Order: sequence, then C-alpha cells, then structure tokens
Amino acid sequence: MFDTLSDRLTAALQTLTRKGRLSDADIDATAREIRIALLEADVALGVVKTFIARIKERAKGAEVSQALNPAQQVVKIVNEELVGILGGETRRLNLAKNPPTVIMLAGLQGAGKTTLAGKLALWLKKQGHAPMLVACDLQRPNAVTQLQVVGERAGVVTFAPEPGNGVGDPVDVARRAIAEAKHAQHDVVVVDTAGRLGVDEELMKQAADIRDAVQPDETLFVVDAMIGQDAVTTAEAFRDGVGFSGVVLTKLDGDARGGAALSVREVTGQPILFASNGEKLEDFDTFHPDRMASRILGMGDVLTLIEQAEQAFDQDQAEQAAAKLSSGQLTLEDFLEQMLAVRKMGPIGNLLGMLPGAGQMKDQLAQVDDKHLDKLQAIIRGMTPAERDNPKMINGSRRLRIANGSGVTVREVNDLVNRFFEARKMMAQMAGRFGFGGGGGSKS
Ligand code: GDP
Repeated sequence: MFDTLSDRLTAALQTLTRKGRLSDADIDATAREIRIALLEADVALGVVKTFIARIKERAKGAEVSQALNPAQQVVKIVNEELVGILGGETRRLNLAKNPPTVIMLAGLQGAGKTTLAGKLALWLKKQGHAPMLVACDLQRPNAVTQLQVVGERAGVVTFAPEPGNGVGDPVDVARRAIAEAKHAQHDVVVVDTAGRLGVDEELMKQAADIRDAVQPDETLFVVDAMIGQDAVTTAEAFRDGVGFSGVVLTKLDGDARGGAALSVREVTGQPILFASNGEKLEDFDTFHPDRMASRILGMGDVLTLIEQAEQAFDQDQAEQAAAKLSSGQLTLEDFLEQMLAVRKMGPIGNLLGMLPGAGQMKDQLAQVDDKHLDKLQAIIRGMTPAERDNPKMINGSRRLRIANGSGVTVREVNDLVNRFFEARKMMAQMAGRFGFGGGGGSKS
C-alpha cells in the first residue's frame, strides 16, 4: 500500500536531514519532489497544489528557520498537512439514537460493496451489535447469493427477496427489511445497493429512491482505491446524485498508486470512515488519518498493530506463556497457541509492514511468508500432546514419524525442534535479565 509514494516522500525528506540550516532553495527543491511523488501517485492536481502551497508557506516560516532541527520540523509539517488532507480527526460511525441505525452502501460495480457489507457486519458484531444485511442489489446476477454468502461467513442474518419473483423492487425490499429489523431487534441495518460499471442516471435514481425509503443514518460511498483519478470523478457524481456522509476505501492492499485515498476527502469534503485491505472479512478497519499519514511517511503504524494484538491475544493465556517462558518451561503447545494468536491478526507481511522503517525492509519482508508458518503449524500438529509438552523426548524415530505425518522432510522437523530449544533458552535468559514473567529465573 502506497509503497512508491512512501519511498519517494521518504527519499525527498531524507535529503533535507543531511543539511543543517535550510535555504528557501532547499525547501523549493523538496517541495518539487513531493509534488512529483504525489502526482505520480495519482493524487488530484488541485489537492496537490493546495498541499504544496501549504508546505512551502509553513516551511519557509519561523517554525522552521528557528527550529533546532529544521529538517525534522519540515517532516513534522508534511506529516501534519498529510493528516489534514486525509481528514484530520478519526471520524467514527454515527449510530442512531433510536435503533436500528441504517447504513446504506453506494458505489460502482466491483468497488467492493458486497464484500464490505460482510466486513462491516463482522466488525459491528465484534462490537456487540446485532446487524442485519439487506440485499437491494437485484440487478447483478448472483448479487443476492453473494451477499447471503458473506452474511453467513460473518454469522449475521441477510434479508433478501424470495427467489423466483422476477427482478423485484429494491425500494420495496429495503422498506420491508427495515420493518423486519425493528421486529427482530437488529440494531444496525446495512443496505447493499446495485452498482453499474459506470455512472449512469438510472443507477443514481435507484440509489436515491432507496435512500428516501430507508432514510439512512449513514450513506457510505464505497470506492476502489486502485482506480486512480477516476475515483474523484465517481465520488463527485455520487455526491451530486445520491449524496453521502462518508467514504470507504477498498483494495488498499493493491500495489496501485492509491492517490484516491489522498484526494477523495479533500475533493468531496466527506470523511473517510473505513479502509479495506484484502479479500478476507477481517481485512478491514477504521480509517485513522494520523496513522495513515505515519505509514505513508514510513513512520510505521504501531498503534494499529497494538490494537490488533489486543484483540487477538487472550490476556490470561499470554501471561501464562510469559511466565513459562521466563522459567524456561515453554512448550511447543504454547508456541503453537501464540503463533495462532499472532496469525489471527492477519497475513504476517501486513503486520510487519506496520512497523517503523518497514518501507526500507521491503525485500526482507517479502521473504517472510505465511506458507512457512503453515509448515511450522503442520509440524507441531503432527506431534503427540506428550511430544509438544516435552520436546526433549522427540528422538530420531519420532522425528521421522512426524515428518511423514505432516508432509515435510526430517530436516525441517529437526530445524524446528532445534530452533525451538535455542529460542526457549535465549528468551528465558532475556526474561531473567529484564525481570519480566512472574519472577521465575532461567532454569535451562
Ligand atoms: P461490488 O460489486 O461493489 O459488490 O463488489 P464486490 O464486493 O463483489 O467486490 C468485487 C471484487 O473485489 C471481489 O472479487 C472482491 O473479492 C474484491 N475485493 C473487495 N474488497 C477488496 C479489498 O479490500 N482488497 C482486495 N484485494 N479485493 C477486494
């Protein structure tokens, strides 16, 4: 996500850090490079112009010339301005005082609306809501079934017209769905609407009719971040045709230039509420302008990482593991549990990508792949509970059996077992030195 942009911006700012005092010419040169980087990332021209003008004005002012470290001051300014164009404060979802809260999704076909409905449903469910999905995309063949499938995967109810009744009227479906939601006490209703390949009047009219029928608390415009400049024109068309209260960016995992993310908010004046970055239902989160800016500037997104970890780890289990670790008694079973918890947080490459400086370690990161972890998991699963508890008993014949059972070579089993012993020893020593993990000293 934003790799090229991030590389170029970091490089532009790094040239400054090698200098002491900054002349106006230095600032102009950096501004020029930032401008090119943004334009190449497909950020809308108007947005780039305003952004650059603000950076120049602030960087040439007293803020920088009187600073102890002028270059860092410029980085700070670029960061703040970036947060600004991404929307400033994090905008949370508006929930209705009198449930159900109605959220309507609008956008082009293929933008990711149906997938988003599932992601939103799962996300809402995790926050304790009882969402219901509503299938109002009655145009595209399979759209209803697709929504039912994501609904099932998210474990929520989907309201759909009975099959075999012809195309049906989406406005009627929407109305009946709201009544049903009230009756069945669903507190949030997510309405999926039809998209077309391009913007057309009929599409807008249908979306507007559904909007009038359901009176949504939020209308979310869903846009594929990979479509570049078109995102801006599409957003303007939807703003004028249907109106929306927030934006959801999808496919931020693509290696596209992602300029949409930086333009849509500024051009439409509406905030970005969520970001989607993968095909799985979990690849979805609240959009935080400040964290996104940090990621783009290669400053990492440690906050998101911590939040994901908090969700994935069971506190008691983690404390028990820490205590065992410090006493050198960690077993392969604990190791497997911890690995599964980490993996719940998403693909390992995505996680590492949130660390500061990740942009510069891209090549190494590409080598850490989930397949390797799959293999480790398979090997541990091929062991008996006794072996996992006491890895010292895993002798030659046991290694052969495990290798055969989990479809790997004996060497791979050896590697895992040996590395586990080394890691256990090292961690116990570290735990002893730093005094964490319930006071147990190193025994191994
Ligand atoms: P709709 O026509 O707007 O309902 O779009 P869909 O939800 O059917 O999505 C279109 C395609 O984009 C599907 O193949 C989805 O799996 C895919 N998709 C949706 N969101 C994302 C995302 O965040 N990342 C990636 N890589 N693919 C996505």
